[in-house]
Amino acid sequence: MLLADRVALITGGAGLNGLGFATARALASQGARVVIVDLESARPAEAAAQLGRGHLGLTANVTVKSDADAAVAHTVEQFGRLDILVNNAGITQPRKTVEITEGDYDAVLDVSLRGTLLFSQAAIPVMQRQRGGSIVCISSVSAQRGGGILGGPHYSAAKAGVLGLARAMARELGPDGIRVNAITPGLISTDINKDKLSAERKAEIAETIPLARLGVPADVAGAILFLASDLSGYCTGITLDVNGGMLI
Ligand code: NAD
Repeated sequence: MLLADRVALITGGAGLNGLGFATARALASQGARVVIVDLESARPAEAAAQLGRGHLGLTANVTVKSDADAAVAHTVEQFGRLDILVNNAGITQPRKTVEITEGDYDAVLDVSLRGTLLFSQAAIPVMQRQRGGSIVCISSVSAQRGGGILGGPHYSAAKAGVLGLARAMARELGPDGIRVNAITPGLISTDINKDKLSAERKAEIAETIPLARLGVPADVAGAILFLASDLSGYCTGITLDVNGGMLI
């Protein structure tokens, strides 16, 4: 078991078809006790129950500091520690630059970027006390290719911000034994894009990808498991592309 005795918190993890829940399953299967954090409407407690006994579901809005602090405090109260934080919550909006309202901008940047900062701020003191931890931040290929297939430029900006934040935290926290890494998924079939792309469009996109298919949540979960575990013990500040070769 790669994660025996480890405690992992995953934001945005309650969607049963999403990257977060696939990650929760992968980490739990390696012995971690998992805390799924999500909006109340996503029913995090029910999702955690699907993992079996010994896991926890908590309601929190990642954009609210007191929610982040309470979720981490509750985790430590329940399990006594926190070893792994996966900053996964995110939203996207298909917009052209001139269409982005200030409200759109705030909504998209708040969930991906402010959420990553707030949950990291809550988790870091716990990890510092433990003299170690792993933080995995979910960015996107949209940050790298200058524009998403579905997300607007504000989504690309938010996800590029996540990469900068992850690298800066990696440099700062390395001496404390805390590793911080990022994942840049390509196009992965989840609820975020389910109703937004026709089967024909998906087939067209698959033809442009060297591995000739869209990703599935388990593809990303495997990469997160690697970064969360000691298998990646000498990796910090890296960006792991999980995109089927989309950028080659
Ligand atoms: P998803 O919509 O299934 O999951 C996102 C989760 O975040 C949901 O459970 C949602 O309830 C939660 N969430 C949204 N706002 C929140 C908030 N304010 N507080 C707490 N939770 C909140 O989508 P997904 O595809 O599984 O996306 C997971 C992450 O991966 C996101 O950050 C997304 O941007 C990123 N990503 C996805 C793809 C893809 O193709 N699916 C590609 C690149 C990056």
